[in-house]
Amino acid sequence: MPLTILYRGPLNSCNYGCEYCPFAKQSANVSQLAEDRVALERFTRWIAAQTNDKLAILFTPWGEALIYDWYQTALSQLSHLPNVKKVAIQTNLSADLDWVKGANPQTLAFWATFHPEWVSRPDFLRQCQILNDCQFKFSVGVVGFAKFKAEIAALRQELPPHIYLWINAVKRDLATLSLADRRFFEQIDPLYPLNTRDYPSLGKFCRAGSSVISVDGDGTMRRCHFIKEPIGNIYDRNFAEALCDRPCSNATCHCHIGYVHLDYLHLDRVFGDGILERIPQGQFSVFDSLIPFESSGRSK
Ligand code: SF4
Ligand code: SF4
Repeated sequence: MPLTILYRGPLNSCNYGCEYCPFAKQSANVSQLAEDRVALERFTRWIAAQTNDKLAILFTPWGEALIYDWYQTALSQLSHLPNVKKVAIQTNLSADLDWVKGANPQTLAFWATFHPEWVSRPDFLRQCQILNDCQFKFSVGVVGFAKFKAEIAALRQELPPHIYLWINAVKRDLATLSLADRRFFEQIDPLYPLNTRDYPSLGKFCRAGSSVISVDGDGTMRRCHFIKEPIGNIYDRNFAEALCDRPCSNATCHCHIGYVHLDYLHLDRVFGDGILERIPQGQFSVFDSLIPFESSGRSK
């Protein structure tokens, strides 16, 4: 059974302090970290035991997880399992990366975000260079504040050309963003308009809940991070019975890690095997009719 899992353990802390983020400079105490480690190690053992399945896993922590060695160990172990076809993590890439040399570049990938206010561009690029030298797949992204434009332009120049650079739309600022700024972001990231919208999803078919689930530290399954109602627990023997097609119960879907699974958007055609680490496979033209630039969302 092919299954994609978005894992988010109890961790909710970060070593950076982005002013727009609820996890900014939140530190975890020893017992919270121990709880997170136990949960992750249990999850990793469970994945290893699902030998009949083909699994893809994206770690979507609340905060920064890769600075902790239990995430590094888990990612490295998972990357070598025959039943894991992809394991990826969202990260600010601030962690020491010596451990990646022991991981499998065929399966381990990274969704890396550059935060120009918390790390210098040369330091961030050095981390990217390590991933690139070891032949890991990774995307790089920046939050689309106009104040970051100079850093974004320089980053684009200095990253290897084959590395996809995405821009996350700041939806609350879209109404006041100048046309020149929007054009700039679209020139950097042709898929930027895609991220400026909230997609109607009520009653629509979405793979979340059938072939994609979110799982928290105690194993609770939800169809996605945005619908809180549990649908089961992966640590129950019959967990797979909960997987079935369901129409979405939310009015809209606003986040990349959710709407990429909305059937009618056909984003699987755009991202293909790179869907978890946010690397498009080249079919940008799928969106030409769907999201013309001028009508891109001013959703909030
Ligand atoms: S690096 Fe990410 S998790 Fe940490 S404060 Fe910034 S946005 Fe939040
Ligand atoms: S459309 Fe979004 S909110 Fe609805 S089920 Fe899919 S991922 Fe969840």
